[in-house]
Amino acid sequence: MIRLLVGLYIVGALAIFAHLVSDKVAFVRGGKPERRSDQPGRRVAIFFSEVLGQSKVRRRLTAGWAHALVFWGFLAFSVATLDLLWRLAAGGDGFLQGPLGAVTAIVTAFAFLILLGVLVLALRRYVLRPPYLTYHSIESAVVLGVIALIALTYLGERYAAGQASTYFGYGHLVVAFTFLAYVPTSKHFHILGAPFNSVLQQLEDRQKMDFLDLEAEPDEAKGEAYGANTLDHFAWTDRLDLLTCIECGRCQEACPAHATGKLLNPRDFIVDLKYHAKGMTPPGAQAAVARETFVASGGSVEGVPLGRQPLVDHVVASRTLWECTTCLGCVMACPVDIDHMSMLLNLRRYQVLDVGDIEPEYQRVFTNMERAGDPWGYGEHRKTETIGKLGDRARIAEPGERFELLFWVGCWGLYDDRSVETTRATLAVLDHFEVDYRILGDTEVCCGENYRRMGNELQFQMNAQTNLELLGGVSFDRLMVTNPHCHQVFGKDYKDFVPEGWGGLPFEVVSVEEEVARLVRWHGLPGRSELGKVAYHDSCFYGRYNGIYEEQRALVQAGGGELVELRRSREQAFCCGAGGGNFWREEKEPRVSWNRAAEIMESGAPTLAVSCPFCMAMLEDGLKAQEGFMERPVQVRHVVELVAQAIASAGADTTGPLGHG
Ligand code: SF4
Ligand code: SF4
Repeated sequence: MIRLLVGLYIVGALAIFAHLVSDKVAFVRGGKPERRSDQPGRRVAIFFSEVLGQSKVRRRLTAGWAHALVFWGFLAFSVATLDLLWRLAAGGDGFLQGPLGAVTAIVTAFAFLILLGVLVLALRRYVLRPPYLTYHSIESAVVLGVIALIALTYLGERYAAGQASTYFGYGHLVVAFTFLAYVPTSKHFHILGAPFNSVLQQLEDRQKMDFLDLEAEPDEAKGEAYGANTLDHFAWTDRLDLLTCIECGRCQEACPAHATGKLLNPRDFIVDLKYHAKGMTPPGAQAAVARETFVASGGSVEGVPLGRQPLVDHVVASRTLWECTTCLGCVMACPVDIDHMSMLLNLRRYQVLDVGDIEPEYQRVFTNMERAGDPWGYGEHRKTETIGKLGDRARIAEPGERFELLFWVGCWGLYDDRSVETTRATLAVLDHFEVDYRILGDTEVCCGENYRRMGNELQFQMNAQTNLELLGGVSFDRLMVTNPHCHQVFGKDYKDFVPEGWGGLPFEVVSVEEEVARLVRWHGLPGRSELGKVAYHDSCFYGRYNGIYEEQRALVQAGGGELVELRRSREQAFCCGAGGGNFWREEKEPRVSWNRAAEIMESGAPTLAVSCPFCMAMLEDGLKAQEGFMERPVQVRHVVELVAQAIASAGADTTGPLGHG
């Protein structure tokens, strides 16, 4: 009788599980298409390392290992539970017999490890209560209790004598299958969603923004838009992201906006959208602000299907969209590979392209670009003047000419006085190594990276097309940049706009650091400067976006610097605060750059090396705002300037305009 009852219970639990999972699958499949089938070999490797090996989860020592133990324990239990099902519910002998009997010992060991893992997680969540774990829901407590019960009933079945063992076995099956039926409704859906989310993450061209066909007018009646402002506008990958979040708060800890007291919190952004997708009230502080705005504007969603309800200033406070520096910290920190930024940038696109709701400071930048051809509004004549001042080293490419390397000077290197120094240093270094280079001169227009991430797709696409036409007029092997934002768009985003017939980008995109590090490796430097301690600040767009970490460090050392690693460096580096268009607006204090500058001051290094003109400008300002800066000033230098100085210190040919030595 008991066997029959347990059997029926299990069938019921499986039916509920199947029904709930099919609902989730339908929700994910309802999203816009997105291709994620490239690089199958790498995806298999991710399955083994991130899913089975829990490599990202284990980055956090205590909680990470506790989670990993529970996960591995569940895998082991899935085998043991099936065996138990066979023995108790179906009345068979089970399959963990003979040589497979050893599996039982492994599962037993995992049962104890699971209990240890549950204890650690409970202590952390309910006793230690770290600031990034603010959702101390009853759900988490129940789930930890159920997991412990699954382990305890298994141990009871194994060690209790006679009939008691059988009752523990039935108890184990009931608890395990109850948990299975419960999982799809809870945040523990990540047990099912996370493996898919990790394996199906964006691999190629990390953070290349989606192609947007501006000639195809969206049909609003069909729920179409250029950007996104409803769940129906999201891609299936975004929807899977929402179902996968485990509310661990790692993204919150990595976020410079949150660290400096802004309203944006990437964890709340995802959790609030997740609650909304479930038809529940989003719990985050930013969502409360969004709701207030919605009510104050007289908005109503009465009768509007969930998928068509507005997100901005209903679920997501519009202010938070612009506070994001696009640093990618949240995405890289997430143990289940959620991509906050793609959603956030598509919400921005909607505000700019579909609504025309543009912050005045951004509107000024857009207008400057339209009228003067640069974001500052200086005017075309300024770059012509700079080219003139660069002298003979400004070797302008002739139409149809063939050469080895095109140095893309960029609008910073042409318009900004401080960055013109970097341009000079770069030209001197290229000359020293006798590179066959050219520049395009005053015909270059801004690469458009900032416009794209500020939501102005139209301006980005116009600039991309102009630049690609220019690039098509000459022939070269490598396009070299001194700005990581240019690197990102030329190397990735422009791929969607190359003219038919090119068959992809006909050149490699390299940073000046990659190019020069290679030259230094081959030829060495003629001298070294006595630079003393030099701290290096990783740019988000070289580091997290493109994995370029080592070349800058190698050059600092080759140039004579004693490299100092900042407390947060490489993948964990802290943003300067400029990205995503934030350079162009007055930031609410305390500023992101102050937070980073304090860390730089702490390092005690008198020189800071950077590889991005945005970082240069932000951190120069941030450092000046630090207490003690007057007594202990820190000089900010582009990495290539340190190389030029080392060459000049040997009296080699970098004479002329450099003069740092
Ligand atoms: S990209 Fe950076 S600033 Fe934006 S939400 Fe993520 S961590 Fe925060
Ligand atoms: S988005 Fe990722 S890092 Fe952030 S709370 Fe969710 S699971 Fe954790």
